[in-house]
Amino acid sequence: MTRSPSISFEFFPPKTDKGRENLKATREQLAALNPEYFSVTFGAGGSTREHTLEIVREIQAESRVDAAPHLSCIGSTRENIQQLLNEYQSAGIHRLVSLRGDIPEGMQDTGEFHYANELISFIRETTGDQFHIEVAAYPEMHPEADNATADLNNFKRKVESGANGAITQYFYNADAYFYFIDACQKLGINIPIVPGIMPITNYKQLASFSSACGAEIPRWMSNKLQEYGDDLESIRTFGIDFTAGMCQRLLDQGAPGLHFYTLNKSEASLAIYQQLNLTPV
Ligand code: FAD
Repeated sequence: MTRSPSISFEFFPPKTDKGRENLKATREQLAALNPEYFSVTFGAGGSTREHTLEIVREIQAESRVDAAPHLSCIGSTRENIQQLLNEYQSAGIHRLVSLRGDIPEGMQDTGEFHYANELISFIRETTGDQFHIEVAAYPEMHPEADNATADLNNFKRKVESGANGAITQYFYNADAYFYFIDACQKLGINIPIVPGIMPITNYKQLASFSSACGAEIPRWMSNKLQEYGDDLESIRTFGIDFTAGMCQRLLDQGAPGLHFYTLNKSEASLAIYQQLNLTPV
């Protein structure tokens, strides 16, 4: 029997009432695609932590799609994390995206957790198998890693600590993903590794995200996008065609699903999804 690919969408917690209304409309449109879950990001330190909890509660209450909060451990204590886990359990949450988080500039004391594998071990020690745990994977290598082998071994450590699945950083070179999957299989890593998909709608924003997170925009693509300048319609059309083609190739060659970084907008993810040859769930 062939399994339908797991489709999921990621949101960030809006800061304003208007942003919240927009997100509500976005998630209602995307819910029609019957995704496996909606994930909600978590800001390192400060108020967005509360917002993650609020948005997750709202999704659980109003939508038939499961909500999966991201949880990052940098700068946190065991007590803080335990408290959040309790809140997520009471809210009926079953899936967590568990991360270290980016270390804020100038932060000297990173708290009681240093890496994501420690967070995963803590979640397993304190809550057993109550949560399905997703972790981050980096086909083009995490920017702080010494080298790709060290990064892969660190990824393996997260799997051995109890991760059930992984979502990758976005990429525009499908071969980087396939090569990473081969390397994981050689190390005996067998959890599903779902490609993270970043629709292309705005070159400047994409270039800035990519330099921060170490995702490569291929030279030919960067040249093309720069040439479009302010012609957002051409960027959008090119971005949807290219990304849909890459998604189809990923699925055809065995990717277990797709996780869309929506930036709280539905149009590009919907347009990509509609170009895919997907078996209905
Ligand atoms: P880790 O797996 O801990 O890895 C971090 C670095 O340390 C890597 O270079 C790794 O090779 C190295 N390393 C890992 N373990 C060890 C060890 N035991 N010893 C030595 N070195 C080690 N950020 C947010 O703030 N909020 C979010 O909601 C969020 N969501 C994300 C969702 C996805 C799908 C992805 C891919 C990223 C997300 N991020 C988010 C960004 C993420 O927090 C950063 O990429 C962060 O820098 C690393 O987090 P991690 O969980 O991958 O860390």
